[in-house]
Amino acid sequence: MSEGDSVRSRKTRFCTRAIHVGNDLDPQTGAVVPPVHFASTFRQPGAGQWGEFDYSRSGNPTRGRLETTLANLDSAVDDESSGGGALAFSTGMAAIHAVTMLLRSGDHVIAGSDLYGGAYRLLHKICDRSGITPTLVDATDPAAIEAAIKPETKLIWVESIGNPQMTVPDLAAIAAIGRRRQVITAVDNTFGTPALCRPLEFGFDIVMHSATKYLGGHSDVLGGTLATGREDLYRELAYVQNATGAVMDPMSCFLVARGLKTLDLRVRRQSETAMRLAVWLSQHPRVARVLYPGLEHHPQHDLARSQFDGAFGGMLTFELDASLETTAKVCESTQLFHLAVSLGAVESLIEQPATMSHASYDAADRAKFGVTDGLIRLSVGLESFDDLRDDLNEAIG
Ligand SMILES: *Cc1c(COP(=O)(O)O)cnc(C)c1O
Repeated sequence: MSEGDSVRSRKTRFCTRAIHVGNDLDPQTGAVVPPVHFASTFRQPGAGQWGEFDYSRSGNPTRGRLETTLANLDSAVDDESSGGGALAFSTGMAAIHAVTMLLRSGDHVIAGSDLYGGAYRLLHKICDRSGITPTLVDATDPAAIEAAIKPETKLIWVESIGNPQMTVPDLAAIAAIGRRRQVITAVDNTFGTPALCRPLEFGFDIVMHSATKYLGGHSDVLGGTLATGREDLYRELAYVQNATGAVMDPMSCFLVARGLKTLDLRVRRQSETAMRLAVWLSQHPRVARVLYPGLEHHPQHDLARSQFDGAFGGMLTFELDASLETTAKVCESTQLFHLAVSLGAVESLIEQPATMSHASYDAADRAKFGVTDGLIRLSVGLESFDDLRDDLNEAIG
């Protein structure tokens, strides 16, 4: 029995498990931070006899530790006997791509219309080359999802908080549809984070994160993760990952594992500041509307309250009643908020979805799905609320 066994149980709180699970003491030295294994290959006991590790694409001790932590935090495993697990990829897109590689030519995907630009591009411009067709559906309408299911539908893909409209889908309802109709359900939980939202607990088959964002949390690492409680899917995804090779490198695994230890703390403070900014922006005369699940007038506020663990995340969108150019100028004139894509780190970021994060949408789909010219997306960092408010106030004018 290792030191980790007693803390793996879900009775132990999330923030405790984030620090201890997968981070057993190094038995050789007692180091409280496990050593990072950079080895690409491992000496074997004999020809045709395989040790625990053979080649780092197939498995690496540092990646394995991170995957142990992730599987626990995402609720993919109850104890070590469960067949589910987690996998760490080189980027979030590589993780999403691995899920799409479960599909075959002729298969159909239903994706939420409030979709990350990169996922939109993957589905519409890459997967279509292999004869896989996507349909975008309003993910806040489970009946619309069910109505879009065809005999060849194999995957339903949603985001726990959609992007950039900040929509919140009913996870339990969608998971139930997937089970009833035998369609795999997968959710991009990058905005939600496992600290606030654990979709596998609502019955989803697969949860994905861009570890580049909140899990790493410091804008200094790229990564993606998948977790599933289903042994069949875990085995198939591990097979795809090994066969295609987009694994997370050991240094990135170390950085993400370190980031996870403060995830809960960071996300809760970021959520608190985002909430205060959302309230302040709602009262600003130049702001037409604010999209934040924590606001009572958000269309899925009650649902969000039931699906999120006490906070609503650090991402918020607001709309100026202004042209593309004026909106761009506002985004260009903040001092603390950096004008940049990406999100989820300690420093606050600002961006214009129409020209930046969602530029890979076709113009018609941008219009159809509400990616308007006046939209501004904020990733709220860990600076003081007062400084961030003053910065926005100056920029909005
Ligand atoms: C960034 C992001 C991704 C893609 O992750 P990368 O690590 O950039 O490949 C996917 N989904 C969401 C919601 C993201 O924000």
